[in-house]
Amino acid sequence: MTGKTILIVEDDGIIAARLHDVLTRSGYAVPDPVASGEDAVAVVAASPPDLVLMDIQLAGVINGTTAAQHIRRDFDVPIIYLTAYSQAEQLQRAKATAPYGYLVKPVAERELLATLEMALRRHELDRRLKESEERLALALWGADLGLWDWDIRTGTITCNGPRTELVGCRPGETRLSFGDWEQRIHPQDLAAARDALRAHLENRAPFFESEYRLRHKDEAWSWVLIRGKVIERDRRGQSMRACGIVMDIGQRKRLEENLRRLATTDPLTGAFNRRYLLQVIETEIGRAQRYARPLSLIMFDLDHFKRINDTHGHDAGDAILREFSVRLASNVRPSDFACRMGGEEFVVIMPRTSGDTACMAAERLRRQICAAPFQCARLSEPLDVTISIGVASAEADDDADTVLKRADEALYEAKTAGRNRVIGKAAKSAA
Ligand code: GH3
Ligand code: MG
Ligand code: MG
Repeated sequence: MTGKTILIVEDDGIIAARLHDVLTRSGYAVPDPVASGEDAVAVVAASPPDLVLMDIQLAGVINGTTAAQHIRRDFDVPIIYLTAYSQAEQLQRAKATAPYGYLVKPVAERELLATLEMALRRHELDRRLKESEERLALALWGADLGLWDWDIRTGTITCNGPRTELVGCRPGETRLSFGDWEQRIHPQDLAAARDALRAHLENRAPFFESEYRLRHKDEAWSWVLIRGKVIERDRRGQSMRACGIVMDIGQRKRLEENLRRLATTDPLTGAFNRRYLLQVIETEIGRAQRYARPLSLIMFDLDHFKRINDTHGHDAGDAILREFSVRLASNVRPSDFACRMGGEEFVVIMPRTSGDTACMAAERLRRQICAAPFQCARLSEPLDVTISIGVASAEADDDADTVLKRADEALYEAKTAGRNRVIGKAAKSAA
């Protein structure tokens, strides 16, 4: 610690000179001692030393504790009192300035030097701790993270960092109970979050991680990712304390949702696309076969669509496809999947539906969809549009191709039989 600068504040010239001598001999840099509180503040402001050795009773207007107050408020300079006073009131005032030591004169040289050394070391540790806290705060700010620290025995979660609201804290609050945290999780996400947490607490997972929707105080929901670890266990291995981070993953979820929508829907009509259709048929056929349940497909094709395009223009054709898709979507059950196969051909997958029921549904759809003329922005006048429909049901050994092929054959029959009708090629068992 030698080489550090120590400012002596002492109004007794003899004591000041003795201190100056002791400290200089011990290798400290010691500027000329000052005798008043005002001078002490001025010297620290002009050139902050590494430590101030402060008498309390001084020559000037302000005493040592008042000078210390000013210094501690404006500078990160540690102070040790060296005073003749040790009354309770004096000590109380000194304590309020958070000194690094309090020595009563006369003090032995060895005691003085040891106290100085300990204070300088402690101040160095405090400085490093402060720096590392500043770095941590900056990292949390940069990464837009919240920190949480869960005392498992008391069930208290203490939050830190710029995004404490992501743990569930209200503005200005840094604590919440474990129950409060759970209550803010979306009911659909709670079971998965609990499972992930339990797996870690029971040592089945190396850490805890979960993504869930969190309800804020203003009732808005946001997607968050929480990740953490138990950092303290008792002797029996019971978890005592866990810490971790939370981050806002709303933007990532929105991007994922957009990507999913782009990958599964058709941009013109918003209906599911062919790729998704094939995926759903495979899944639903598997399910139907596993649980011995019926499954049917309805395939639509707009009649004479080429003629509509040729007469009214391609944009009008597009508008009709969009309107058709809207009418289709509002006339199918929530459990059905309406997809655009391509061109002016659509398919509705109907899980748990027999061929007969699907034929009736197809007939109803044909009537409902075509009941009113199509009135689209691009059409000069309302236009009657008709559709032909082929229906097929999945059989025991069907796959997506074979059942689609049968629906297509049925549709072809509907076309050749004069269009604007339904032809069913139901499963043999239901036929
Ligand atoms: P059919 O009654 O036998 O089905 O006759 P059609 O004219 O409807 O059938 P065809 O297969 O001859 O013609 C389909 C037309 O659909 C031709 C094609 O240009 C048009 N088409 C396919 N996709 C789109 C699209 O996205 N927008 C528009 N406007 N037209 C499309
Ligand atoms: Mg057609
Ligand atoms: Mg066609």
